[in-house]
Formats: sequence, structure tokens, C-alpha cells
Amino acid sequence: MRISRYSISLKIDEDQYLLINSRTGAVDLVDRDVVDLIENGFSQGDSSIGEFLKERGHLTDLSPEEELEYMEEFCGRLHKRFSQTRTHIIIPTYTCNLRCTYCWEQLLHSRGKEWINRTLSLEETDLFFAALDELDEKSTRKKPLIYFGGEPLLPENEELISYIMKEGSKRGYTHYFVTNGTNIPHYLPLFRKNAVHGVQITLDGTQEVHDARRKGPGNEGSFQRIVEGIALLSSHRIMTHIRVNIDYSNVDCLESLASFLKMKGWHINRYTVPYLASVFNYGCGAYAKAYRREESMSHLLSLWKNESIWEVFKRGVSGFHSLESVLRDEVWSPQFYNCRAHSNQLFFDPHGNIYPCWESVGEEDHCVGQFIPSLEFNRTYEMWRKRTVMNMKECRECSYAFVCGGGCAYHAHASKGSIFAPVCQPTRQVLEEYIPFCYRKFLSEGWVPPAVEQNTAQGRY
Ligand code: SF4
Ligand code: SF4
Repeated sequence: MRISRYSISLKIDEDQYLLINSRTGAVDLVDRDVVDLIENGFSQGDSSIGEFLKERGHLTDLSPEEELEYMEEFCGRLHKRFSQTRTHIIIPTYTCNLRCTYCWEQLLHSRGKEWINRTLSLEETDLFFAALDELDEKSTRKKPLIYFGGEPLLPENEELISYIMKEGSKRGYTHYFVTNGTNIPHYLPLFRKNAVHGVQITLDGTQEVHDARRKGPGNEGSFQRIVEGIALLSSHRIMTHIRVNIDYSNVDCLESLASFLKMKGWHINRYTVPYLASVFNYGCGAYAKAYRREESMSHLLSLWKNESIWEVFKRGVSGFHSLESVLRDEVWSPQFYNCRAHSNQLFFDPHGNIYPCWESVGEEDHCVGQFIPSLEFNRTYEMWRKRTVMNMKECRECSYAFVCGGGCAYHAHASKGSIFAPVCQPTRQVLEEYIPFCYRKFLSEGWVPPAVEQNTAQGRY
């Protein structure tokens, strides 16, 4: 037996290590002696421990080449399976009623007003659904239809949104809205008529800070309207994810925002989940207050270490990184790619174009096809789908590969000119800081790790 090429040991205390396997998702607390034994091929260890470590994937009888071959085949199977259930995101228009200081879609404004203001017609919406019918023909399970923008819930688009919801509901889709939340009262009757899966609304700080970041064209703030919208949704039992975009310009008000959310009871309400998200600059560098990628993880960790911030945002932390789900005893699946842009996620825009990723919408470089006049994919589509850790030289050799997935392709393209360049940040920090942090945090909150006491060199039982 030898140590798996996908096992990593991380020191978390004087004599305690986390053994993480990026193939199996095993996260095990062991002592230094076990790490030494594994690193030396476990030739002298207790055989019951050896069996356990093999079961968890840390030890293997396969050669490094055989392990890679196994993963290659597994990747192919998983990719095919995940691609069968698609997530469709519709952008009815790129127009928005706010002018957020950090909005990455600002770059699209250089295309001119006419381009930005274009909105799908009802006839074009029929072509969108014709494309969905074709793509989902064989799918047995439908994921919620996601509405994105610009701002999808502008009052003037009510007829269009009503039509999309009606046609979507008819086909068995539920509906999820990524909205700035300024027009919730207007759309509530429509929400109540259809199956709304949830809503994502961004609240960026206390009123003063939020209003300075998320303002309308006349500089008017949006805080009050958004807060009223969230209250309305939760009172109608509509799941609302409260996203807080953080960067250098609002991070200092987070504790006050946490107090506000606590005062509203939104940290424990079944229908409201506050969570934090970092604002980054990609290649363009348009927004000076954005987080630098290499610093973002440390900032998030220092925020979560603050008890009052943790108390409010901890439910939203779940899902921040897939490996953390293992600590919650959920099923692990190796991250062959970093996000669903490479498997089953498609954005349909008001110009009839299709894109793979949230950040790429409207950019010609990343257009993967059209749905007007009919569904057609181009070569870029194949490229995005091919970006797995198996198809990137550095990632194939990397022991972090299936925890990382190769990083963000959009960032790779913006910073290195190719979606096939690896983006290693922040995987190392996730492993070295975030996972040990969660491990300790969950322990202190009463979580019992699987077989933690048994994984010592002295004996498993
Ligand atoms: S992007 Fe970097 S850390 Fe991630 S799998 Fe590739 S080489 Fe490893
Ligand atoms: S490629 Fe990057 S920006 Fe695009 S959806 Fe994936 S993680 Fe997000």
C-alpha cells in the first residue's frame, strides 16, 4: 500500500492533523504518528488502521498512474450525468433601475443604450422555450428557472415576466429570481400564482453604506425598499437569500449590519438566509475597492471569527466551499470542474445569445451559441465543457485537484488569456485555513466528527 496521490495532511494543532483526500472527500483527524506511517507506505502500522485509511482513500494499492486513469474514467461518467439536468438562466433585459458602484455589468454600457435596453419580446420568449424543450427533452428532473439581469423585475416588464412564468410553470419549472429587490410589492401577486423556489436579494450594509453603493440614477438610495421587500417575501414564506457583497468599502459596517439583521430576526427565520460574497475585479480592474483575490479568504475568515458576525451569517457559510459539506456528513463528489459553467448552466440573453457563466454574459469572447432564430452551439461551448482538471496539465498532477476543480475559468481568461489556465487561489487557503476553521467551529458547536477518537496510531478500536 502507498499514500494516495490525492491525500493531503494539514497540521491543525500540536499533534493533530487533518487528513484530506480530494478523491473521496474524506476529512479525518489523526495524530502525527499516523501521518508518519502513511507517508512511509504504512508498512508497520496496525492493520485495522491500515484498512480504515484505505477505506477512506488515504492509502491505496493502485499506482499513481492507475489512480489517474480511474479518475479520468470517473470524470467522464460524472460529467455526463451532471450535464443531464440543466440550469437555465434567462436575462429578459440588461437594463437596471440601480447604478451599483461595483456592478461588473457596467462594462456592457459601452455597447450603448439601445443594446442595454433591448428586452426579449414574447415571440422571442417562445424561441427561448423551444430551446429549453429541446435541451430538456430527456431530462426527468427540472431545475428552477433562474431570472437574472440587469434587473429582471422592472415594473415595465410585468407582462413579459408573467408570460415567462406561465410558460415555465406549464412545463414544470419552478422560478428563482436574482433581483435587486426594489419592486417586490409589484411582483408579489405573480409570485403567489406560481411556484417560486426562492429569491436572491443583495443588501450591502447599514442604510448609509448600502445607499452609497446601491443607488438609483438620481442618486436615491434603495435600502428601505429592499428591506421592505425582504420582509414581504418572508411574511409570504418565500425563501429569500440575503446576499451581502463585501469589499474594502463596506467591510467595516458588517458588525452593524449583523445587528440589524439580528434585530429583524432574519438570521434565524426559516425563510431568510443571510450570506457573504466577495466582490472581485477580474481582468478589467474597473472597481478600485474590490477585494484582491489572494486576500479575500483571509478577510472572510477574520469576519467569521467575530462571534456576532458568525451568529448571523453561519447558515449562509454552508455551501461556501464544497469540502465543508463533508464536515456536515453530506455526500461528496470530486470537483472535476470549478463550477457549473462547465457542465449544465446556460444563460440566455435578450439578444438571442447564450453564455456559460454569470460574469461572462454579454461578452462576445464567451458566447457559446444562439437560441434566436433556433438553438445552435458553437466551438466555444465545447471549450467551456472541456475545462476539467483532467484537461489541464498542472491540475492533472495536483493533489488538490478534486477539491479545487481548476479555479474560475472566467478569471483565468481575464488574467491569463485562456480558460485552460489553472487558477490556484484560494484552494490552498481553503484547505489550510477554512476547513480547519470549520472543523474547530463545528466541534465547539457540538458536532461529532466521524470516528475522530479512533484514528490514532495506537489503534482504531
Ligand atoms: S488550479 Fe492549481 S490548485 Fe487547483 S487543481 Fe489546478 S493546479 Fe491544483
Ligand atoms: S467561470 Fe468563474 S465567474 Fe463564471 S460561473 Fe464559474 S466561477 Fe463564476
